[in-house]
Amino acid sequence: MLQSEFTQAPPTVKGPSQWPTQWQGLPYYPIGQYYKSVFGQKVYKIPVTTAETCPNREGLRGMKTCNFCDVWGSAAYPEYQKLDLREQILTARERIRRRVHADKFLVYFQAYTTTFEKVARLREQFAIAAEFEDVVGVVVGTRPDCISDSLFDLWNEYSHRFFVAVEFGVQTFNEEQLLWMRRGHTAQRSIDAIHRTAAATKVNLGLHLIFGNQGETISDVLNAARMCNDLPIQNVKLHNMHVLKNTPLADDFLAGQFVPITWLEYAERVKLFLQHLRPDIAVHRLSALASRSDELIAPAWTSKKMEVYQNLIDYLIAHKAFQGQFYQR
Ligand code: SF4
Repeated sequence: MLQSEFTQAPPTVKGPSQWPTQWQGLPYYPIGQYYKSVFGQKVYKIPVTTAETCPNREGLRGMKTCNFCDVWGSAAYPEYQKLDLREQILTARERIRRRVHADKFLVYFQAYTTTFEKVARLREQFAIAAEFEDVVGVVVGTRPDCISDSLFDLWNEYSHRFFVAVEFGVQTFNEEQLLWMRRGHTAQRSIDAIHRTAAATKVNLGLHLIFGNQGETISDVLNAARMCNDLPIQNVKLHNMHVLKNTPLADDFLAGQFVPITWLEYAERVKLFLQHLRPDIAVHRLSALASRSDELIAPAWTSKKMEVYQNLIDYLIAHKAFQGQFYQR
C-alpha cells in the first residue's frame, strides 16, 4: 500500500537545522545518541528477569492481568528466566557480543514489576550488576503504584556509583483506555509518581506509551505529547498495541471486539507524537516487538522489527516531519 512511497527518494528535510543535524540525519532524538553523550560511547541494554509477578497478577485491590500482557510479563528473553542474575548477565552479554562490538552495558530489569519485590532484594541485584566492570548502570522498569521512599534511598545511593534509570509503564494518559487495558492505576497516579520520583531522586526518568488502544483518537496522541513535555522526564518508549496469544486481548480480538491498528494509522500517530514532543526527550524505540514471534497473533506488520523501524523513518522523512517540529514552550 505504502511501498511506493518508500521506494521514492526521500525529500530533503529542511527544518530547524540544529535538530536533524544533531541527530545525525535521523528525524528524532534516539536514545543511543543520548547514551553516547552520557557515556562517550555506545552502550547496550542487557534485559534481565528477576521479578516473577506484579500487582495485577497477584490480584491486588481486585486488579487483573493487563489485557495485553502474556505469561512472560514483557520479558525480552523468557528462556533465560530460570538463570540466576549473574548467568543472565553473562549470557546476554555474550549474545550481544556475537552480533556487535560492545564493551559497555546497562542491566535492564525489565520483566513483570521489579519494584514489587522487597527493596532488599533489588539492592542485592544492583550489587550483582555492579560486580561487572563493563556494566555502567541499571535501568528499572516499573509501575506508577510500586514506588516508595526506601526505593528512592536505594536509587540515590546507587546514583553515586553508576547510572540509574527508571522507566514507568504509563501506557496512556486516557483514563478510559487505562481501564480497558486493566492497568489498575490512573493517569494521575502516573503523573504523581513521576513528579515524586523526580523530586526525591536524581535518576534518569522515562515512560512507556502504547498507541493503538481501543477508542484512541488523534487528540489522545497529541495530549500524550503535551503530557510528556510537561513532565520531568528524559526519555520515552513507544509501542503499538499488539495481540499476543493467551492474553485477554487475544480473546477480544478473536471475538471481533478489538481491531489492531494498521501500519499507516500507527505511522501517523508516531509522526504526530514526535512532531509535538519536546526535542530534548530521547526516544527509545518507535514500535513494539513480540519477544516470541510464535506468540504474535496480530497485527502481522509488527513482526519485522527492522523493516517496521525503517518504514517509520521513511514515513517521517517523506512527510518532512521531525521531533519537536510543532513543539511550543
Ligand atoms: S504489563 Fe506489567 S503490570 Fe501489567 S500484567 Fe504484565 S507484568 Fe503485570
